[in-house]
Amino acid sequence: MKPSIEKLKKFFKLESDRNYDNKAVMGGLQSMLEGWQLEARADDVPEELIQAVIVRLRDYHRLSETSRKETLHGIWVRVLKETGSEEVIKPLANETTAEHDVPTQQHQLENEDIQENTSQSKAESAPEDQTKSQKSDRMVAFEGPSAALNASIKVLPRVGDQKAKTLNRLGIFTLGDMLYYFPRRYDDYSQLTPIRQLQYNQMTTVIGTVQSVSSRKIRSGRSTLVEAVVSDGSGALRVTWFNQPWITNKLRRGMQIVLSGKVEQYLGRLTINSPELDTVERKNLHTNRIVPIYPLTAKITQRWLRNQMDHVVNYWAPRVQDPLPETVLDSVDLISLSEALRQAHFPDSQDALHAARYRLAFDEIFLLQLGVIRQKQAWQDRHGRVFELPEEWLENQLNLLPFKLTQAQQQVLGEVRNDLASGRPMNRLIQGDVGSGKTVIAAIAAAIVTHADAQVAVMAPTSILAEQHYQNFSEMLTGEGHDLLPEQVRLMIGATSESEKNEIRSGLQSGTIKIVVGTHALIEDPVNFKDLELVIIDEQHRFGVNQRASLRAKGSNPHLMVMTATPIPRSLALSIYGDLDLSIIDELPPGRQVVETHVLTPLERERAYRLIQAQIESGHQAFIIYPLVEESDKSDEKAAVEEQAHLKNDIFPDFKVGLLHGRLRPAEKEEVMTQFRNGDFQILVSTSVVEVGVDIPNATVMLIEGAHRFGLAQLHQLRGRVGRGSAKSYCLLIPLSDEAVDNERLRAMEETNDGFVLAERDLEQRGPGDFLGMRQSGFSELKMAKLTDVKLIEKARREAISLFERDPVLEQPEHQLIKEALERFWQPEDGDIS
Ligand code: ADP
Ligand code: MG
Repeated sequence: MKPSIEKLKKFFKLESDRNYDNKAVMGGLQSMLEGWQLEARADDVPEELIQAVIVRLRDYHRLSETSRKETLHGIWVRVLKETGSEEVIKPLANETTAEHDVPTQQHQLENEDIQENTSQSKAESAPEDQTKSQKSDRMVAFEGPSAALNASIKVLPRVGDQKAKTLNRLGIFTLGDMLYYFPRRYDDYSQLTPIRQLQYNQMTTVIGTVQSVSSRKIRSGRSTLVEAVVSDGSGALRVTWFNQPWITNKLRRGMQIVLSGKVEQYLGRLTINSPELDTVERKNLHTNRIVPIYPLTAKITQRWLRNQMDHVVNYWAPRVQDPLPETVLDSVDLISLSEALRQAHFPDSQDALHAARYRLAFDEIFLLQLGVIRQKQAWQDRHGRVFELPEEWLENQLNLLPFKLTQAQQQVLGEVRNDLASGRPMNRLIQGDVGSGKTVIAAIAAAIVTHADAQVAVMAPTSILAEQHYQNFSEMLTGEGHDLLPEQVRLMIGATSESEKNEIRSGLQSGTIKIVVGTHALIEDPVNFKDLELVIIDEQHRFGVNQRASLRAKGSNPHLMVMTATPIPRSLALSIYGDLDLSIIDELPPGRQVVETHVLTPLERERAYRLIQAQIESGHQAFIIYPLVEESDKSDEKAAVEEQAHLKNDIFPDFKVGLLHGRLRPAEKEEVMTQFRNGDFQILVSTSVVEVGVDIPNATVMLIEGAHRFGLAQLHQLRGRVGRGSAKSYCLLIPLSDEAVDNERLRAMEETNDGFVLAERDLEQRGPGDFLGMRQSGFSELKMAKLTDVKLIEKARREAISLFERDPVLEQPEHQLIKEALERFWQPEDGDIS
């Protein structure tokens, strides 16, 4: 037997000899824990066992003799089982053989508290099947108190396999997860009120003496109502509990209790329905304080979780090591992590809660920023090929364009040129509303690179867009006065024939082809470039970080330019694209008109049709969009298909009506788009596949059915499909029902055409996840922080930059904890943003 276990046995035996008076060890059994755990670790006693011993002995002094006996016995049975020893010490032996979740033990622990749902607790406490996993697979090597947070929640009393599984469903596997499982909200019962001064609607706490308790069946015996009268010298209050029959057994006449809840009125008298309840002697967890309300799942109650949290927080929060360096703590004026964790669960006051949440939010954003900045630095450390060009040549290129660049375009082009000439790989996000002219900038950058005989890859999220870019690039960069021949710019998408693909592959390999435009097939394809120096990615948010990286890997540190038409609020850009430099084209080319937007009720659909009719008669075209209900679902196709038939036959018999939906093969989609662009039909019925980037300047009406189903960003994108020419354009939004007409998003669409304004609202309303439809490493970790909090983000970013300035690779000893936290935070999970 290991010395530390031997020692435990000795203490336990002594204690049992002394009839559990807690004097076997000076200061009580609980006082030896600190030293013992170190010895046990040195002995290689499994950490889970150590934790189990600690958790159970911690409150030993508070237990009754019987409970103490049961506790020691329970621990010992477990020790023997886990150390594989058959030895049983006589004085500790009794008939109980099951593990720590045996009912007796549970009973003892719950006696300390007012018991909650008895039947449920019993069900949970069924003896476990010991052949099942003894150890959580999340256990890792332990080094100290901080590492012990990785111990499975099964070390907690009253948490066996069943409860553990239930907690797992909440994402709680370890003690650390538990500490970071924060309340959804709080009920502030910190105000104590004498019964006579109670006021209707008040959230408050009352302390009083139980005068009477009774219970009766209601609803023909299917429910129980417990009623108690409590008085406090100033008055008496009648309170009731619905369907909590166990409360009857807990309350005795003359008992001092603490009640918290909202004051309501019943038959003209003030009352509190189903108040939270504590006894006066016990520490108040559920009453008389700011009470945490946790998100729950079936089989777990607030009271139970709160009790568990109390144990975990009291013991572990003070032992958590703070990863933030002193310098950061000081300069941002943050409270310690231990204090923040404690206050986030059981706040002493609203101010303390605020400080706690601020500290925890800072941690998240700080780690996010450290991650993106580290990424940025890694890129900046590399060498990028220098592209400088004769000014004259550029002038010439610009003069070949059918228009003059806007001020904003010139500005951004300047930034791009600087990057290309810097000797470091460009890493730039170009943001500009739909129609702001990003493609031209990309094309000029491509011209600069190909002028120096290097290669360019352009990647778009759909083949329709790839094809459109291909046409634009071809028009802008080949022919009269240009460096490139038409056959040096190529399109490679899923629909490209195998023989043509082969030809393109060999052209890229040999260097005869200078620009290739494609979809993600470009990444998957085994294409090799002779000298890839610029990668252009359109509609960034459709591509994952990994995809960005693998395209990049096809060259040696090529310049990278990403373009997005989704206006990203500054705070969000700093967070997600903090590794990229940011350029904004915040000006539309002259002559662009605001798209007139109206929300119509379904009954007003006729008006929409009449507008479409009139527009078509004056030579324009119209989109009619149906929502994509679910990608896997056939119904979106059906809706669009059926509607198209209906529109064609019944509403617009004189016009040609095309149809586009996600289930068409890529070649078919392109065929439809090409026909629409050529004016082969006047109306295009489509699902939202038409969303991004498609340019049909002659289209002037965008009618969106089921509009309430779309997000703001998406609606704005769709609206951007019209108003691209010089003619006045319209966007008509028809939600499914009359009520949805008041939908905030739809109203916002009416109010503004400014993508940035809409993006800010979208971010506020729906959060970043929905906003970009993304899932990215790091973001699932944000529990406290809001990506709309620009001030916090900027502060965290400054601190992150300055930390890296002081210690570029985080090698100093005082930065080891933050370095570990950073690795954990940015663990790769799902790199795909779309
Ligand atoms: P987006 O930013 O949505 O990709 P594009 O680059 O596709 O926008 O440009 C939209 C349209 O505006 C195109 O037809 C393009 O030729 C035209 N355009 C771009 N820049 C200008 C400009 N400075 N003046 C006039 N028209 C422009
Ligand atoms: Mg575009």
